Amino acid sequence: MLFVSDPLQPVRGKAYIARMEKGTVELIKKLTPTMLHVNVRPKNLFPFKAGQYAAIQTLEGEETKKKYYSIASSDKNTDSLDFFIRLFSDSPTTRYFESLKTGEEIHFEGPGGKVHYNTNCSGRSVFLCTGSAISQHYSILSSNILEMNSPFLLWGLRNQDEIFLVDELNQLKEKNPSFNYEIVLSAPQKNWSGKTGYVSDHILKLGLKPTDCVYLCGQSKFIENVEISLTKSCGNCDNVIKESY
Ligand SMILES: Cc1cc2nc3c(=O)[nH]c(=O)nc-3n(C[C@H](O)[C@H](O)[C@H](O)COP(=O)(O)OP(=O)(O)OC[C@H]3O[C@@H](n4cnc5c(N)ncnc54)[C@H](O)[C@@H]3O)c2cc1C
Repeated sequence: MLFVSDPLQPVRGKAYIARMEKGTVELIKKLTPTMLHVNVRPKNLFPFKAGQYAAIQTLEGEETKKKYYSIASSDKNTDSLDFFIRLFSDSPTTRYFESLKTGEEIHFEGPGGKVHYNTNCSGRSVFLCTGSAISQHYSILSSNILEMNSPFLLWGLRNQDEIFLVDELNQLKEKNPSFNYEIVLSAPQKNWSGKTGYVSDHILKLGLKPTDCVYLCGQSKFIENVEISLTKSCGNCDNVIKESY
């Protein structure tokens, strides 16, 4: 299996973090109890390719830190950047983002990362992700939806309380009716008729072909499990583009 992108190495080495930028927080909104939407207006236009991330400068007490976040918005908008930020109860980073106010200035570097839409893909574009990793996939989908051949998204979350972005995904379906998506819940509450379990449980049934382009984004354990399922379902699946958090 050939992985055409593994950007974690450059993240650690900061090899292609391009420049330091300033921006203004335009919107800060809790989408679910564990997901924050932050919209930033960069002071200068911020060209990026869908799939890339920015390193946002956060504050822990007096100390500044850099945390990496995929840009969730379309790369057609270089003057407005969306981020979906997962909130953790024991995290200083979460406290920093929750304390942000609209109009406040933030600093960030980027763009970084080599994951982007494979324009040479002759098969379907298939997106497999969990949780906040939808940021990267939503950016690629919303930037390229009109050119994509039967795109499909399988998105793993814990339960119904974590679901967001449904209206936006349905809007993508209106733009390209060949687009489909399904949400997989690992611990659904009652009254869930959709898929259950883990994303990796459902890969065999996708009927992947070697020409399909498969995008993976999530924690390293998720990537490992999905890779095992991919090998079983599509032994010679060559176009796998992955990023682990
Ligand atoms: C290229 C790249 C893109 C990324 N894009 C996004 C993005 O779009 N949205 C986003 O929310 N994050 C994204 N991340 C992850 C992000 O950079 C942080 O690692 C994450 O927000 C946790 O930071 P933290 O400082 O709160 O956690 P840490 O200080 O590292 O940990 C604090 C606590 O949070 C908990 N925790 C941390 N991470 C997880 C996890 N994944 N699952 C369960 N518990 C956890 C643990 O309990 C831990 O003790 C990305 C990472 C990379 C490398």
